[in-house]
Amino acid sequence: MSEFNNEIWFVGAEMAPLVKAGGLGDVMGSLPKVLLKSGMNVRVVIPYYKNIIPKNFIDIKEVYPAGKVNFGEIPFEFGIKTGFAMGDIPIVLVEQNHFFNREDVYGSHGGVCAYKDNLWRYAMLAHGTAYAMRILGIPLIVHTHDWSGGLVPAVIKQTFGDKKVRIEGEAEGVLNAKLGRRINVKGLRPAIVFTIHNLGYQGVYGIDDFYDIGLDFKYNSSSAYEHFGTFNGLKGGMKLSDVVTTVSPTYAGEITTPEFGFGLDGELKSLGNNGRLKGILNGIDLDYWNPKTDGLISYNLNLKEDKYNLKNYNEWKDFKLKNKKALFSALSMPIETGNNGNVLPLIGIVSRLTEEKGINEFLDALFNWNDFPFQVVILGSGRDYIEGKANYLSKIYRDKVYAMTGSYDEALSHKIYAAADIFAMPSKFEPCGLSQMIAMRYGCVIAAGDTGGLHDTVSDIMDSGVKNPSGILIDRINPDGIAWALNELYNRYMADGDEWRNLVVNSANKQFGWDDSAKVYESLYYDILK
Ligand code: ADP
Repeated sequence: MSEFNNEIWFVGAEMAPLVKAGGLGDVMGSLPKVLLKSGMNVRVVIPYYKNIIPKNFIDIKEVYPAGKVNFGEIPFEFGIKTGFAMGDIPIVLVEQNHFFNREDVYGSHGGVCAYKDNLWRYAMLAHGTAYAMRILGIPLIVHTHDWSGGLVPAVIKQTFGDKKVRIEGEAEGVLNAKLGRRINVKGLRPAIVFTIHNLGYQGVYGIDDFYDIGLDFKYNSSSAYEHFGTFNGLKGGMKLSDVVTTVSPTYAGEITTPEFGFGLDGELKSLGNNGRLKGILNGIDLDYWNPKTDGLISYNLNLKEDKYNLKNYNEWKDFKLKNKKALFSALSMPIETGNNGNVLPLIGIVSRLTEEKGINEFLDALFNWNDFPFQVVILGSGRDYIEGKANYLSKIYRDKVYAMTGSYDEALSHKIYAAADIFAMPSKFEPCGLSQMIAMRYGCVIAAGDTGGLHDTVSDIMDSGVKNPSGILIDRINPDGIAWALNELYNRYMADGDEWRNLVVNSANKQFGWDDSAKVYESLYYDILK
């Protein structure tokens, strides 16, 4: 018999709005909140990035004696602190200044220039997590995320054993926060859920590095982290977990194919065949991303209703125009009009600037287009050549294109969502994508790649079977395909008739919150405890 707490521990590298590099941060911040609200006992474990976590967001209650781990010959001490994030989310902070007290989460330029010691940094997170369990009690479930959380399953197993906890009889309700803190159950280690947010980042290192991260050598095997002679953090994470989820149903299918599988499609296919791979759509925090109350935008949406239609469309038009004027004035951009006197549509982009996002092809579409009829605001950081291309475009089309590259700017991102008419997200693959969900919440019409979560969330105006279209989906991402899609939206915007207005209100009505998916996670947690 072991003693467990009836808790679920989320483990990951980011947690918005404390610390965020991308969509993983949004999920780590919003899903636990919803599960807590529904009565579950959740804690979030993240590294203590002292430099980047705003002090007023965390409230540290307890500091525990330091733990120790050997990385090869070198001993490292680390601290454990517990408290609350944003007032009410229980957190565990793994403190190790050498590894975590830095300027960025994964490295500069949105992680493109990754820190060379990320493997050691996230091994530290895994060891810190297991140590915190020894101090605070073992949770029933560990829900760990992405390759940076991919070392957690091995450390849990080497610490608590291979045998998974099991609740005899009905598991339902056992994770309820109101239940007594400790429960006796059969088994030795927590059940492990692993979520893949992006298969494109696998944490691949030389196999020799295996011996320096405090993992049992038995995990240097193709049934764990070894992958064709390399160390692969994501592979081991999924092989050693009880169930693997990914962040949209379409992506769950795509990653079992060679085109999207990044070399792990075979592994994922067999997980799927065994019923151990599930696609659960992410949601966004509808309270945080709310055009009616958002404190970071210049004008809030002035509507009482939660359902939008052609009757209240004018409020949306007003909302867009006012926010556009405020944004343009802040960016010193003039508002341009087209031949019929209508203000040109504003295309917004808030994105990591990496190959997969298709922004390079988007920029080429504009370069190839003689006098393109849009204004564009781009916020993003990533690859040098894409940043450079965006900056060059904004230099030669000073009045039409504004590019803010190389920086992460939460406030500006909100202002772009609020002001843009069209939100462009021409991703070549997109596990789920949160930016399009946020953009729809702020009444943007979407131009997106027809892939992964974009396929699951954007209703395509070109699909005659779709009832309430919210954008346009592009089959193949290349400059011509993107130009075609933008032109289709441009024509509808300029006509300013019911077709465009419906696109705006349909988008705003989509509202991708967490409620449905949180329920799916709840039942998954109970299923693996049985
Ligand atoms: P990914 O996780 O692949 O980066 P998602 O669409 O899932 O893409 O999530 C991106 C999130 O990061 C969104 O919340 C988006 O607003 C935010 N974001 C991306 N780049 C920036 C930036 N430079 N400044 C502010 N927010 C950004």
